[in-house]
Amino acid sequence: MRKPLMRIPYTGPLPPPIIIPRYANTPAGARHALTRFLTAAEAYKGERRSPGHDPTKAVLLTGAGISVASGLADYRGTGGTYTLNRTYRPIYYHEFVTDHEARKRYWARSFLGWTTLHKARPNAAHMSVKALGEMGFINSVITQNVDSFHSMAHPDLPTIELHGYLRALVCIHCHSQLPRSEFQKSLSILNPQWTAFLEEMLATGALDSENPAERRAKGLKSNPDGDVDVPDASYTTFRYPACPTCLAHPPKLEDGTRARVEVDSDGAWSPRSTAGVLKPAVVMFGESIASNIKTAAEEAIDNAGRILVIGSSLATYSAWRLVKQAKERNMPIGILNLGGVRGEDSFFSDLGPSNDGEMGIRCNESADKLLPMVVEDLKGSHMPDTGGIHRTLNVGNSEVVKS
Ligand SMILES: [Zn+2]
Repeated sequence: MRKPLMRIPYTGPLPPPIIIPRYANTPAGARHALTRFLTAAEAYKGERRSPGHDPTKAVLLTGAGISVASGLADYRGTGGTYTLNRTYRPIYYHEFVTDHEARKRYWARSFLGWTTLHKARPNAAHMSVKALGEMGFINSVITQNVDSFHSMAHPDLPTIELHGYLRALVCIHCHSQLPRSEFQKSLSILNPQWTAFLEEMLATGALDSENPAERRAKGLKSNPDGDVDVPDASYTTFRYPACPTCLAHPPKLEDGTRARVEVDSDGAWSPRSTAGVLKPAVVMFGESIASNIKTAAEEAIDNAGRILVIGSSLATYSAWRLVKQAKERNMPIGILNLGGVRGEDSFFSDLGPSNDGEMGIRCNESADKLLPMVVEDLKGSHMPDTGGIHRTLNVGNSEVVKS
């Protein structure tokens, strides 16, 4: 079995976006091409790869770009975290697991950001994915996002959350899970000064933006590391709760001895403990993707006839490799992303000028605008078929004859 993939940030420069077919450089052209892509009858001509393989359906691979219209920042877009905060560095798994101080800092920042995330909702792009699933154009979704918007928007369409989810915490010792909303309440009780500050910042609207200048203007100051300066409250004093399961029943350690789980008088985890550390149920940088999730994602690729990437620059290797796998299977590849995509040339290099979208599409449009239009066009059509039946699709003002 291959080694599970490690999640590490990709920092290389991205190429400028390419556009395929050439007319897909306008919203109307992209709409036409994406509709062709999703309805092409002859997506995959090879042999059946797995019992669940349906060559007429697409698998979606989504990234942060699909959630921008829900008010969340992406990483490399114009309002992205990495773009606005050049010094931003995510926490690494080994730091989180080994360093109490790093965890305090992580949870303090997360405490301030959670309300915004918690209030955010799926947008028109997620709802379009639901519609595409119901109409039979896609059979599964793989997402790099940890916001759970896909499972909220379309609970019945199989969705693989490649990097986990923020809606829960998992104990690194006993592996039991805890809802994040419950954990947030504990953080709030353990850190009254931060709670007062959070309420103040929610009232000024400072947390609605990732832009440091806008935040500063509304009273939220940050230091060069991107840490928020909370008056009279230092990161070193931030407290977080222990895993309730470990606290009630301390687990056995690897050496066979019983772990020690201690809390202060308010229930905050004590650094004298040897277990009971909760972590967000996401795959952190430097942490491996669980092998069952990795296998499920590979199977989802093998069960589809084409792949459509939405809102991802494929900067993480795990996502890039899934598209490479699709390429190796000769599957048509579609990419809908604002801005360049890692190694995108290689995905389209063999497409000739006769491609009208059915063999591949690359466009530079926002998903929440384009996908609802494509859904509108597809509503009048039938399931993709494998026969040579002529059908007409209404695409914008033009009528396209599909054969
Ligand atoms: Zn535990």
